[in-house]
Amino acid sequence: MLKKWNFSTAEFGSIRKIVQVIFLITVILIGYRFYTFTVQLEAGIIPDIDRPPGIEGFLPISALISLKYYFQTGIINDVHPSGLLIFLFISAISILIKKSFCSYVCPIGFLSEILTKIHLKIFKKGLRVNMFIDYPLRLIKYCLLVFFVYTIFFKMNGFAIKQFLYSSYNIIADIKMLMFFTDISMTAAIIIISLIILSVFIRNFWCRYLCPYGAFLGFLSFFSLFKIRRDEEACVSCKKCDEVCPSSINVSKSKNIISDECFACGKCIDACPSKGTLSLSLPGKKFRLKPVIVCIIVVFIFSGGSFLARYTGNWQNNISKKDYMNYMIENGLVNIP
Ligand code: SF4
Ligand code: SF4
Repeated sequence: MLKKWNFSTAEFGSIRKIVQVIFLITVILIGYRFYTFTVQLEAGIIPDIDRPPGIEGFLPISALISLKYYFQTGIINDVHPSGLLIFLFISAISILIKKSFCSYVCPIGFLSEILTKIHLKIFKKGLRVNMFIDYPLRLIKYCLLVFFVYTIFFKMNGFAIKQFLYSSYNIIADIKMLMFFTDISMTAAIIIISLIILSVFIRNFWCRYLCPYGAFLGFLSFFSLFKIRRDEEACVSCKKCDEVCPSSINVSKSKNIISDECFACGKCIDACPSKGTLSLSLPGKKFRLKPVIVCIIVVFIFSGGSFLARYTGNWQNNISKKDYMNYMIENGLVNIP
C-alpha cells in the first residue's frame, strides 16, 4: 500500500524537490510564452499574446540599475518593473532564510544539483577542492559583484541611469538574452558545455565560483535571521552533516552556520541521526522552521509579492507591442525583407 504523505514530518529533501519542480515548470511556461512572443516579433507580426513579465527575473543587472533609480527618484521604472520586484523578493528571502532562493527556486541551482548527483555517482563520496584553490576561486564571483556594484552605484550618475533604463538596449534586453540562446554562437556553446562538464567534476562550479547573483545573496545571507544551528550537547560527532553538505561546510564544528555558501537546503538536518540537534532557527534555536514552513515562506514571498505588484500596477511594463516591434526593427532584429 502507498505510504500516506505527511507534510508535518516531511524532510527538507522531499519538500524542496516539489518546490523546485513547481518553480521549474513556472520558468518553462514563462520561457515558452516569451519565446512565442519573440518569434512573432521576429517574423514582423504584432504578437497575439502578452509578454510574460516574469521573464524580467533573468535581468539582474538591469534590476540593480532599477534599484539605484528607485533610490534616487522613488519611482519603480516602467520598463522592467517586475525585474526590480523579483530582485527585491529574492533579496528578502535571503535576509530571512539564507540562500534558500538558490536551493528552492533557481533553475540553475536545480541543474547544479542534478550535476552534483552525477558527480556523486562517479566519485561516490564526492571530491572536495583543496582550500588553497577553493578560497581564491570563490573570490571570483565577489569580484564580479563588486565590479557591477561599483559601476552602477559609483560610476553611473542619475542621467546615465535614466538613459540606460529607457534605452532600446535595455527595453529589449530580455529579447536579446533569449536570442543569445536560440541563436547561440560556437564560442558561447563551448563555454556553456565546458561549465556543465566542470560542474560534473567540481560540485556547484557555477554557483560556488562564478555567479555574481549568488555572491550578492551570500552577502545578504550573513544577516539572515534563520540559520542552521547545532546543539553541541546533543551532537554525537558522527560528521554525517559534513558528508552531505553540498557546500562542503564543516557543520559538525560550528555552532551557527554563518557561511555565505549555505543554501538552507536542510540536507544536514535530514542526515543527522540525532534528531533535533540541527535546526534552521532563530538565535537561541528558537522557532525551528519545518521544511513545509520554509516552502510556504518562499512561495508566499513570490506569489504574494507578484500578486501585490499586479494589483498596484507595478508588474506589467508600459511598452506596447507596437513599440516592441519598432525597437526590434531599430535594432535590426526583424526578419522581413
Ligand atoms: S550547512 Fe546544511 S543547509 Fe547549509 S548548505 Fe550545508 S547541508 Fe545545506
Ligand atoms: S550529523 Fe548531527 S550528530 Fe552528526 S556531527 Fe552533524 S550535527 Fe552532530
